[in-house]
Parts: sequence; structure tokens; C-alpha cells
Amino acid sequence: MLITIGLEIHLKLNTSSKIFCRCRNDQSLDLKPNTNICPICTGQPGALPLLSQECVEKAIQFWKIFNAEIAEISSFDRKNYFYPDLPMGFQITQFFHPIIRNGKLKYRTDNFETQNTAQIHEAHLECDTAKMIHQEKMTLIDFNRAGTPLLEIVTEPTFSSAEQAVEFAKEIQRVARRNHLSDADMEKGQMRIDVNLSLRKNENDPLGTRTEMKNINTFNAMKRAIQHETERQTAILESGGTVNQETRKRDDMKGESLLMRSKEDALDYRYFPEPDLPAFTASATTTHQETASNQESSLNSEIQTSFDYIRTCKQEFGFSKEYINTLLNDKALFDSFFQLVDEGFAPKNIAKRIAGPLMKSKISTEIFLTNYATLFRDFLTKEKEGWLTDNQLKLLFDELLATGDPLEEIIKRKGFDTPAMDTETLEKIIEEVLTQNPIQVQQFKDGKEALMGFFIGQIMRKTWGSSDPQTIKNLILNKMRL
Ligand SMILES: [Zn+2]
Repeated sequence: MLITIGLEIHLKLNTSSKIFCRCRNDQSLDLKPNTNICPICTGQPGALPLLSQECVEKAIQFWKIFNAEIAEISSFDRKNYFYPDLPMGFQITQFFHPIIRNGKLKYRTDNFETQNTAQIHEAHLECDTAKMIHQEKMTLIDFNRAGTPLLEIVTEPTFSSAEQAVEFAKEIQRVARRNHLSDADMEKGQMRIDVNLSLRKNENDPLGTRTEMKNINTFNAMKRAIQHETERQTAILESGGTVNQETRKRDDMKGESLLMRSKEDALDYRYFPEPDLPAFTASATTTHQETASNQESSLNSEIQTSFDYIRTCKQEFGFSKEYINTLLNDKALFDSFFQLVDEGFAPKNIAKRIAGPLMKSKISTEIFLTNYATLFRDFLTKEKEGWLTDNQLKLLFDELLATGDPLEEIIKRKGFDTPAMDTETLEKIIEEVLTQNPIQVQQFKDGKEALMGFFIGQIMRKTWGSSDPQTIKNLILNKMRL
């Protein structure tokens, strides 16, 4: 059986205001319910929507990323249905004239080895609904989310495996973050994915009947949903049955999908053009922005896909998939990484600290970049100077993360600045330690070799870590032979 998958990805754009009103587009989860609302986003009679230019600009950035056609005329439509989370009784979306049509996006599978191109059918702007909070005996509604801007990206049925679909979705997340268009945090619902899936026997057969799985919010759940739905449809087809066109809700706890609604009772949304918003031309918006004086426009900035960077990170820096993902998923981190590379620091040295200790520490990247940027630069300079041992560098970086103290202070405190000892002084100290521990010396001579660690530890402490353990070891062995 051959699998065919199409995706609908809802991205919450990170604009400053909601799409049709001036309420803040605040997506923090601890915002008090129903405090960031106004007559427009709560659908009060007579309130009129006003399209946010910033939303259109961000959509245009996607148009560039997708190398797509841009609609000469773009307009909004009403999608009518009744539901408590929809205060106006309809959703304002783009049905007849979406802002983006016929695009494509390159992405990689097979541990970044294989290059693929996904076909994008369209992308359109729309407003999000309010949030329903289900409690035991009642349902609460929070309108803070109502009217926040979404870009829905609809692909063609272009994927033939779960891996392709998931890697494409990851690439969407990366480009959205890299170009500062959406935070695309799936846990916060800023990126939600619907999966359409159908099966057919041969390449030349027409596409089979598809089912839709809605609102998937992790990449792992996406993988599982595709696998499970493939098995379910295979079982139906192999037993001679037919797959019904239906929407299925995934129950991840039970690992199965449940029927939400079938084609027979699919909703009829009675789309019609939104009379309160004029059609617009995206190109006119662009021109207007570019001629506006002094106004810094995101449109002038260069579009960055992660594609070339993946190649650089992989081929030139030899980074692993984990390193690359860490870097590409965080725009701020990524930018400062390449800034440091430009300044001449070795990519591997930078990545070594970021991918390991920083990711494990409790410090967020944001705080690291704002409060530790200078310290990190100093640190890399110290590393480049080459007079600190690997062990000292590791301790130094840990201490830097823990305290945020200036490096020189830490180095003094730890005694790393004491110059390496000359052999004569070192021999004196070794002599001293051995004389003070006659029992251990005897045990060592009797064959308890593990005691070497003990001696080295004692000596390192007395020399403030400034001596090299291997040198100490050789000197001890010489003394023992005497
Ligand atoms: Zn509002």
C-alpha cells in the first residue's frame, strides 16, 4: 500500500496586535482570562474589523519563503458556524482569494541526507477562536485568544511517508522561527497540524479516500497518528471494505483515532465575502512600506531558510543532527552563533558549550544571550589563548553559568592563574605528600594501584590544579622506584 499525506498547518503569527483589532497579540499562558479583549474581537454589534498591516507583511514573508505566486487581489470571507468559542457567529478567513498560492519548500529527510521539495497549495490568513476550558460540570470561555492571527498553510498531497510529513513540519517551524514570523511553540498551541491521509495500491491508481486527523500538537503524536491511521485503513482495504471520508480525533492516550464527523454531516459553512473588509493587493502594501521613510520594514530583510545552514553545519562544521536542531530552532541563538563564527571563534568550540552545558542548565537561551554574551565572548577568547586545560575550561564555564561572575574573578578564585610549576617545586610537593602518607605509599608498592588517583588528587590540590596530572603521575612513579 502506498501512503499519500497532505498537511494543514496552523501557525500563530507573532505580530504585536491581533489581526482585526488593536488588542495585544499576547500569547502568554498566565494572562488573566478575558482581560485582553475589545468590542471587535468579542463580536459586539456594530464593531468593525480593521486589518493589521503587520499580519499581511508576515504572510508576504512566507510568500517569499515558498517562492509562491502572490494573489493580485486578496480578500477575506466569512466561514459561518455556531459554536461558543466563536463570538461573531463566523470566522473571518480567506476562502476564495487566499494571499499565497502555489508555492514550494525544500526540506530534508534521512538525517538531513536527502533533499525533497513539498508542493504548497495555498496559505491564508484567518483569526483564531476563543479558548474553551472544560471543567467537570461546566465549560469556561477565555476570549483572549479570539482574533489572534493565524496563517494556515495547506500543502498538496505531497508526502509519501510519515518521515517526510514530519520533517516538512519541522522545517516550517524552523523557517517561521528563523524569520521571526511565529514562535511556533506546539506546546502553547502556536503550531497545530491537521493530517490528511489516504492509501492506494499502485502509483498509477487515483488517490484513495482520505481521512483527516485534526489538531495534532507534537511531532511524535503526528508520527503515531500516521502509523495508526495507515494500519486502520490497510485493514479496511485488505478485508475488501471501503474507507469513508471522515474527520477523526486522535486519542493519544488510547493510541487510536475516533470518528468525529463523517462526510454526510460535514458542516456547510456557507462561505461568503466579508463585507466589512475591502479586498487588498499585497504588492501595493509592499510598495507602500518600502517608500515609507525611516520606517524599518521587515520586508526589506533577507529571507532565510535553514537549508543552506544545514549544509554548512553538517559539511563544514561536522555537527550532529542534535547540534543542528538546537541551533536552527532558536533564532537568537543561531544569530549569535554565526556572529561569533564571523568573529573568528571555532564553530565546534562555540557549539560544544551551547549544545551541552547551556542546554542542560536552567538558564534560558534568551537570558544567556542578553546577560552572558560578553562573558561568553571572553570565555571563547580564553579558550583560544590556549593556556587553560580542558578540565579548567569545563569548570570555568560551569562556574560562569552558575554565578555570572567575571571570568578573571573565577579564574583567581579557582587558582587557574597560577603558572604551571617548575619540576623542582613540583617534586618537592610530591615528596611532601608521599612522606605524609606512608601507609598509602606502602599499600601502593604492595600493588594497590588505585591509590595513584589519591596521590594525584592530593598534589593537584596543593598545586591549585595548575599542574598536568600526567606529569605528576610520572614524577610519582619515579619517586616510588627510588
Ligand atoms: Zn480586540
